[in-house]
Amino acid sequence: MSELVIKNLHVSIEGKEILKGLDLTLKQGEVHAIMGPNGTGKSTLAYALMGHPRYEVTEGEILFKGRNILGLAADERSRQGLFLAFQYPVAIPGVTVANFLRTALNARRRAENPDDKGISILEFRKMLKAKMDLLKMDHAFAGRYLNDGFSGGEKKRAEILQMATLVPEIAILDETDSGLDIDALRIVSEGVNALTGPDLGVLIITHYQRLLNYIKPNFVHIMFNGRIVESGGPELALRLEEQGYDWIREKYEEVPA
Ligand code: ADP
Ligand code: MG
Repeated sequence: MSELVIKNLHVSIEGKEILKGLDLTLKQGEVHAIMGPNGTGKSTLAYALMGHPRYEVTEGEILFKGRNILGLAADERSRQGLFLAFQYPVAIPGVTVANFLRTALNARRRAENPDDKGISILEFRKMLKAKMDLLKMDHAFAGRYLNDGFSGGEKKRAEILQMATLVPEIAILDETDSGLDIDALRIVSEGVNALTGPDLGVLIITHYQRLLNYIKPNFVHIMFNGRIVESGGPELALRLEEQGYDWIREKYEEVPA
């Protein structure tokens, strides 16, 4: 079983420390939610997990399947079975969703076996249709240019479809903190719910309590000022819904001496 273990993670951006000793363990088959106020370092965690070069890990470890992956580039981490859905996906005019996904899938297959001839177009189409049906997506979506003129909800759908195609063992979903309406949240949730099972571990990063009306996480963590300060079950999200983040600020705000 795959396990992602984050130990005492410290991450800096341009010399400024953002993550200040974060610990988290996530197993295949589990759904974890990380919630926290804006600017607390949630996206920084997502980027550091995927190995974005701007996010410098100054201390701590990230173990995936027992191996320290800190030395691995983003594509190698992806090949190992990690997936990151971006908060702000980029548009690629001229490249269809289907072409993009087939290229990504074949790159993965070739990385595993240099002699791989790639998936046949016929086989790929069949597979993609099945995934789109699972996610209740219109097949016409596959023929559109990736993220080009997509609504917030469609971009999220494209990310979920990419996840369904690449079949990761652990997926990290960095939710946007603004601009996503309730429909987009519902779409992401339904997609995630359709894909979860014993073979997938999910880390949902969100500012919104309401997302968890649709996805039932096994574990909820509250992040504040670069650390996880509270962990519990779904009741923790309910408490945030009722009381907001003020009690977290009062409890954990560091007052300069
Ligand atoms: P969250 O996702 O929880 O809203 P972020 O991880 O995006 O938080 O940001 C955490 C902190 O890091 C913020 O104070 C933000 O201003 C800072 N930050 C984020 N990205 C950069 C960057 N590229 N360069 C400098 N500072 C950044
Ligand atoms: Mg963020």
